[in-house]
Amino acid sequence: SNTPITNGTRQLSVNSSTLKNDSQSLISEFEYRRNEIQTSGSSITVTPKKHNYRFKTTLKPKKTGLLLVGLGGNNGSTVIGATIANRNKLSWETRNGTQKANYFGSVTQSTTVHLGWDGSRQIYTPFNSILPMVSPNDLIIDGWDINNANLYEAMKRAHVFEPDLIEQLKPHMETTVPKPSIYYPDFIASNQGSRANNVIHGNCKKEHLEKIRADIREFKEKHGLECVVVLWTANTERYTTVEAGLNMTAEEILTSIDQNKDEISPSNIFAVASILEGAHYINGSPQNTLVPGIIELAQKHQIFIGGDDFKSGQTKLKSALVDFLVTSGLKPESIVSYNHLGNNDGKNLSEARQFRSKEISKSSVVDDMVAANTILFEDGKKPDHCIVIKYVPFVGDSKRAMDEYICSIFMGGHQTLAIHNTCEDSLLAAPLIFDLTIITELCSRIQYASAGTDNDFMAFHSVLSLLSLLLKAPVVPNGTPVGNAFMRQFGALTKLLTACAGIAADTDLQLEFFTK
Ligand code: NAD
Repeated sequence: SNTPITNGTRQLSVNSSTLKNDSQSLISEFEYRRNEIQTSGSSITVTPKKHNYRFKTTLKPKKTGLLLVGLGGNNGSTVIGATIANRNKLSWETRNGTQKANYFGSVTQSTTVHLGWDGSRQIYTPFNSILPMVSPNDLIIDGWDINNANLYEAMKRAHVFEPDLIEQLKPHMETTVPKPSIYYPDFIASNQGSRANNVIHGNCKKEHLEKIRADIREFKEKHGLECVVVLWTANTERYTTVEAGLNMTAEEILTSIDQNKDEISPSNIFAVASILEGAHYINGSPQNTLVPGIIELAQKHQIFIGGDDFKSGQTKLKSALVDFLVTSGLKPESIVSYNHLGNNDGKNLSEARQFRSKEISKSSVVDDMVAANTILFEDGKKPDHCIVIKYVPFVGDSKRAMDEYICSIFMGGHQTLAIHNTCEDSLLAAPLIFDLTIITELCSRIQYASAGTDNDFMAFHSVLSLLSLLLKAPVVPNGTPVGNAFMRQFGALTKLLTACAGIAADTDLQLEFFTK
């Protein structure tokens, strides 16, 4: 079949006998080759296996809404402002000249995927041309905040955009005030208390759940949405206790909300409300919202959940750099990651329990790379890894991250790398919010079955580990490995897209260039 897939002005046609297009959906047959492994002591037995999958992808993207918890924050106001700026093709003056709106930093909008060699050059295609995807410009966005600033005030307070852009966005943003939210002072830093002037009244967690559910329902109905994603980009909460009787099963978490238990956090309520309303839920902050009971509830309702903590700056680089070092045969021995920032996120993280949530999510990012090389890490001891975050109001959202990596190299030598990263934090995080939403919506249109059987098509696992590329501490289905290495994660995502589109996955072998 010759299957044109059109996205905007681009068209990609796939000529493949294993791909069918009935104009509603693509059905592709995919031969998945992988090795079955058996280990015994120091011996490894490898058995190459083939598994035939069939993917069914509904072509038409769903009308999608994004509800942000923390809409009035730096990320929230940047997300909304950037969408309006892109939709209206705004440009603005800066001291470095005229800038125009773009989606740099978004994997779905600004990366390309290698397709092959046309005889004279390598051919790449935009990520979002392989399968139809929602455009960030088309997302309907709203949300909640415990602070009542309108989005123009919120954007000014954030110190992220240039003044000329802020004033152009003013008429689009000043009329929007976030919906009132849930505030339990014990979960975010006490220094946030003065911000909480837009809260849902009362102390009854069950009533709070019902109110958030009603907000999601109204949003869905008002805009005629087919897909809603609720995404936490509010302050980092402290960890909650995870224990039997509280939140280990779906029933326990619902009962604990009914019983108004103290350890039920605002983010727990948002996650449960989303799942019960059929909205996918993503946790962009480090706290452990996705407790076992919430995961079970999501599975019961066949809702996607993803987390934890956007992988935006320092940790994103780490997840590429440490992989590169280990792949080069160099042994990272010490990684010291120091940050200072002056935005409200930094203020919140200046208290110990909230910092601890961040420290945990930033810490485990090199584990898979260490475990991958038993020559370098013979005894399994991980590198020393230290995380420091300091609040320095003057630098605002312009976060500074300083990292020192020390590696053991050839013949007992040491290599020290010092990296200084300065960037508006929300300009790194906002593109990930679009990607998380767009990939989640796409995954809601993909189903799979074992080819050659009568098995029905099924949805992916509720814990959407494909989102790991964009998250620091990926939550994965029980019993499956956590992967953090950036390019492997990117490969997993792009290979799924090509498989669904009937395109042969790039093996990176490039045999055509060294065989006759
Ligand atoms: P921010 O403090 O500017 O925004 C958070 C907003 O959430 C504030 O407006 C606050 O009033 C609101 N809020 C707090 N509790 C709430 C509740 N219960 N319901 C609704 N709103 C509530 O912070 P930010 O810079 O936008 O970052 C947001 C989150 O994203 C933080 O947890 C941060 O750690 C996480 N994060 C950010 C990045 C990044 O690069 N910017 C990367 C990873 C994670």
